[in-house]
Amino acid sequence: MSRASQLQQEMGLGPTWLPRDGWFEHHPAQIQRQEMRAAVTDAVDETDAPPLAAAAIPAVSDSPSLAAAITNQAAEPAEPPPPPPDAPIAETRIELPRLEWPQLQREVADCQRCRLCETRTQTVFGRGNPQARWMLIGEAPGENEDKQGLPFVGRAGQLLDNMLAAAGLDRDQDVYIANVLKCRPPGNRNPAPDEIAACNGYLLQQIHHIQPTLIVALGRFAAQTLLETADSIGRLRGKVHRYQGVPLVVSYHPAYLLRNQPDKAKAWQDLLLARKVFRQAAN
Ligand code: SF4
Repeated sequence: MSRASQLQQEMGLGPTWLPRDGWFEHHPAQIQRQEMRAAVTDAVDETDAPPLAAAAIPAVSDSPSLAAAITNQAAEPAEPPPPPPDAPIAETRIELPRLEWPQLQREVADCQRCRLCETRTQTVFGRGNPQARWMLIGEAPGENEDKQGLPFVGRAGQLLDNMLAAAGLDRDQDVYIANVLKCRPPGNRNPAPDEIAACNGYLLQQIHHIQPTLIVALGRFAAQTLLETADSIGRLRGKVHRYQGVPLVVSYHPAYLLRNQPDKAKAWQDLLLARKVFRQAAN
């Protein structure tokens, strides 16, 4: 059994979700592998690989039909709706001077722009390859992340790693993972609007540096914050949005998937959509 099949089996996913050969031929890692293979054999015929399924990916669209067509679901997650923000986030965001990557890391590590600096163990800047073409954005550090200084660790992080691996993505090379907030809210409460406003400039600068081809918002809170909407994650999934001009796909937070195992299949559908959108955007 292949590595991907083993990972999918652990995730409770069926073999029908195995990635198709050739889907990722435009990804830099794949291109690099192909170039290395060609250099060794000097006889590789790239045209043997079938193209990615030609299903048309809609341009930026708010149409609910895509979600129904792709996932055949409209169920809302079991999570309760968030409290409405006290003020529109966009009106209160704080501008930051443009910083180089090392400066940005130092600025975040020392940041005291909001009250969360008083309760954090350490800041959680992000992890992965700053040159990656995929960027995954979650909500905020949890207890384990706060202790280790890395996003998406523990069981949720392991599940995310497995899903990425099953999709042919290396968590250290192919993606960069960050959160909306760089410090843990006490007790894992929802971030407050003023905390989001204070921290948002760091995320914008991370996106500016990375210049991802695709953003995946993980979880209801990240999706609602980035898209400035109160729509449920069930309504936001299955569509192609944009954030800072970058295509954005919404999926569930892996911590939610640990509590709601049946929705792993929906998360895999989201990842399939993300792959298609990535391929289209990379062309
Ligand atoms: S959450 Fe963001 S703005 Fe608040 S202290 Fe941490 S790094 Fe600074």
